[in-house]
Amino acid sequence: MAVAFAGMKRAVDVVFRAGCPDCRANFELGASALRLAIGATSNTTFYSFTCPECGVAVRKPAGERIVELLTGGGVRTLRLHSAG
Ligand SMILES: [Zn+2]
Repeated sequence: MAVAFAGMKRAVDVVFRAGCPDCRANFELGASALRLAIGATSNTTFYSFTCPECGVAVRKPAGERIVELLTGGGVRTLRLHSAG
């Protein structure tokens, strides 16, 4: 029963809500379906995913709050610029 899972309360699956600007589908994506790219400025910081409905590659700007949310949720982060 449930006792078997005691102590296995690790990470809760984080799910992010996203929408496709192309086919206007709304869906939920796990952290592994998202990718975050952090550029030198907020203008070059964005997250991307592939729409599960139509397969289009979606790219959206990511503000500070979204960056925090995504990194906290275990989304893969890519740094476009090294410091300096
Ligand atoms: Zn779509």
